[in-house]
Amino acid sequence: MDANKKWLSIPKEFRSKLRKNVFCTNCKDVVAIESFTIEDHQFGIVLHGKCQQCGHEVARVIETE
Ligand SMILES: [Zn+2]
Repeated sequence: MDANKKWLSIPKEFRSKLRKNVFCTNCKDVVAIESFTIEDHQFGIVLHGKCQQCGHEVARVIETE
């Protein structure tokens, strides 16, 4: 399964929670991610994008089985 399909296999409501629960090292807070891409990761997938508040690059690994 490719990364995008793995992402889409996660229930929609859970995906929206994940998108709003990304740590930004610049804001030092939990923020929402925007303009993100989805890539494969050894433990599942990783979202690479920007902090909605400051535009700093953020990433979040999501473990999938
Ligand atoms: Zn930020």
